[in-house]
Amino acid sequence: MLELKNVTAKFGNYAAIRDVNLRIKEGEIVVLLGANGAGKTTTFRTISGLHSRSSGQIMFEGLEISRIPANKIVELGIAHCAEDRKLFPDMTVQENLNLGGFVHRKRKQQKKETMQKVYDLFPVLYNKRNDLAGSLSGGQQQMLAIGRALMARPKLMLLDEPSIGLAPLIVEQMFKSIQQINKEGTTVLLAEQNANAALSIANRGYVYENGKIVVEGSAEELFANEEVRKAYIGA
Ligand code: ATP
Repeated sequence: MLELKNVTAKFGNYAAIRDVNLRIKEGEIVVLLGANGAGKTTTFRTISGLHSRSSGQIMFEGLEISRIPANKIVELGIAHCAEDRKLFPDMTVQENLNLGGFVHRKRKQQKKETMQKVYDLFPVLYNKRNDLAGSLSGGQQQMLAIGRALMARPKLMLLDEPSIGLAPLIVEQMFKSIQQINKEGTTVLLAEQNANAALSIANRGYVYENGKIVVEGSAEELFANEEVRKAYIGA
């Protein structure tokens, strides 16, 4: 579904990611692991057209998307849920969701159905649909950010650190919801510091170090890998 071939992306002369090769098959949950600053966010921003790659190729469903602008990439079916959530705090939950559905502005019925799916997935958002986004708890804001990305009816969802700053119980719920989203047909690429939880729902993963992929494998292989355990899982 998605393939990165030798992708390098820079800030000035500094290569934040170097020669990255990634493959995501339809239906998978794939996790990117790595310390802060290892290059996960830059990878996401490069895929979604928010940062231009300096070399390499990005293919999505057989189409080269390396030079396609971000708004078109959403239309092709890739939604990006950024680490800082980027909600509109002074707008209501429902208004924030509506903005995520702009891609389908001409298809009212479809938008309504998708919103209902988001509310089924996160019932608390339905209860708070008229509340301001800024009044929600951290976990609810993360649900809203994911819900808003789902409004674009993506085939592939890029989720950047969805568990960051959330209490352990909420993290567990969040990962269950991600599994549910995947079961309902959305392929997921997930960046996480919480390697244990992420690998428990993922099919495969890639480990980043200083902008390069240093290890890749199935979730089981990464769990069993001594270096990965030491660096990202503990015990
Ligand atoms: P985090 O979890 O902290 O977001 P990450 O693995 O997603 O980490 P990136 O945010 O992709 O890492 O950062 C990769 C490298 O690029 C880091 O060395 C970072 O300092 C650098 N970098 C990121 N954004 C910028 C920027 N706007 N200008 C210059 N350098 C940047």
